[in-house]
Amino acid sequence: FRHRSAKFLITAVNQGHYRHLTHPEVAFAGRSNVGKSSLINSVLCSQKLVKTSKKPGHTSALNFFALSSRAGPGEISIVDMPGYGFRSRNEWGDFIVEYLSKRKVLRRVFMLVEAKVGELKSTDENFLDLLEEYKVPAQLVITKADKLKSADTDQISSAVIKQATRIAPSVLLPQAIYCSSRTRMGIDVLQAEVLSVCGL
Ligand code: GDP
Repeated sequence: FRHRSAKFLITAVNQGHYRHLTHPEVAFAGRSNVGKSSLINSVLCSQKLVKTSKKPGHTSALNFFALSSRAGPGEISIVDMPGYGFRSRNEWGDFIVEYLSKRKVLRRVFMLVEAKVGELKSTDENFLDLLEEYKVPAQLVITKADKLKSADTDQISSAVIKQATRIAPSVLLPQAIYCSSRTRMGIDVLQAEVLSVCGL
């Protein structure tokens, strides 16, 4: 990401808003307060592209960012999905279902789970149901990993991965990525995944 620059593109609630964006794309999703804004800012090497002071459940739209190479072609889109928390299976905004079911350029959803929580909540499970239903490739990212003692990490990841794999066996990658926006642990690994899944 060293020779790339990020910028905010659009806020969208239907296909018409983002149909013209045709570069390879990844999206970030997770419960409110999971550390998603901080993580996207870290990945994009920006302090404040994504506002980190939102109220839980407050933002309910897709926010698109562009990551372009200063050296020429190779632009990709990064999508910040609305933080979920209090929604049941039937209360997902239609635009989320529309996005997950129809977005052809979407290469992978990075689904964030907070390290200390150590398990999936029912909203996480509902989201994984959607990913499985619409066959969207997904990978778990364990956030705020600085709060864990290193001895705990394997235990937590295998429990969470097991739980998630039961729900989304055909789309979930077997490997989770541990990240901390505070220490930048794992951010380089995540950046490498983003570029590679987008073919760069
Ligand atoms: P979002 O609601 O998912 O976008 O989460 P935010 O990025 O706004 O972060 C929610 C809270 O978690 C804030 O108080 C952050 O300071 C804190 N936080 C975010 N990332 C980290 C991290 O890597 N480590 C720790 N210890 N706290 C974090």
